[in-house]
Amino acid sequence: MQLIDGKKTSAEIKAEIAEEVKKMNRKPHLAAVLVGHDGGSETYVAHKIKSCEEVGFKSSLIRFEDDVTEEELLKTVEKLNNDSDVDGFIVQLPLPKHIDEQKVIEAIDPKKDVDGFHPVNLGRLVAGLDSFVSATPSGIVDLLKRYNVETSGKHCVIIGRSNIVGRPLSILMSQKDIDATVTVCHSRTENLKDITRTADILVAAIGRPGFVTADMVKDGVTVIDVGTTRVKSDQTKSGWKLKGDVDFDEVSKKASLITPVPGGVGPMTICSLLKNTLKAAKQR
Ligand code: NAP
Repeated sequence: MQLIDGKKTSAEIKAEIAEEVKKMNRKPHLAAVLVGHDGGSETYVAHKIKSCEEVGFKSSLIRFEDDVTEEELLKTVEKLNNDSDVDGFIVQLPLPKHIDEQKVIEAIDPKKDVDGFHPVNLGRLVAGLDSFVSATPSGIVDLLKRYNVETSGKHCVIIGRSNIVGRPLSILMSQKDIDATVTVCHSRTENLKDITRTADILVAAIGRPGFVTADMVKDGVTVIDVGTTRVKSDQTKSGWKLKGDVDFDEVSKKASLITPVPGGVGPMTICSLLKNTLKAAKQR
């Protein structure tokens, strides 16, 4: 079994981005909007800002309390859309229940939608046109490429069909230059184990710790674990740790390649966000 090291790969990609930034006459600028104080969201946004510094981007953080109104948030989105100094921005999800997430996503200018969540970018992806591809699927494809995982004609099974991971990844994996045969599974899928056992590449994007067990995979499979659920832990200083959707200890015995959690897909997601921001800056 070989570990797919997202941390190492993302460091390589960041170094490549930093080199490109040095050649530019202005720093790309990524803005992040963060609502409330959810521990997970705070951590993700802090990592994104730190990564911007590492590659020489300008970054800014706009914070709101949980009780921010939808109107106020939409006004901020509009301001960022019109701010010529900002190349791309993200609104960290999830948002509080009283705010319509989809409305906020659709208010973002697709040209600045570096998360790739806007229906215009999703639609362009489906049509095979140039777009901002959502960061996690794009990071997964980069990992597979950098680890020379054969995808052409291979069976890629994705568990999860969300608009930010499973569905866009299924489109990417079936595209012409990747050429995988893709099966998307979800909570209504029957005989899931029979399907996952046929996977050459298995992607778990469910949000249920340890869901994929050794009896669900075949020998030699490549496993990509997207799941990041925060669970209580007495082994860490914070009292929390991240757990993936895959039973790593058991599944890794059968896999030829596998991503760990943390240190697999997570760092690659941030890299893709940086790549999208660089692209947005170049396109302006
Ligand atoms: P989501 O929107 O909640 O979607 C979960 C998917 O899993 C749904 O399609 C759901 O099916 C499916 N599912 C749930 N239970 C299932 C079961 N028993 N059998 C088969 N399928 C089942 O989640 P998401 O936003 O895609 O995120 C998934 C996980 O990835 C989460 O842990 C999230 O934190 C993590 N994540 C990590 C990164 C990263 O950078 N590492 C980025 C994004 C997300 P239905 O559609 O039928 O409900």
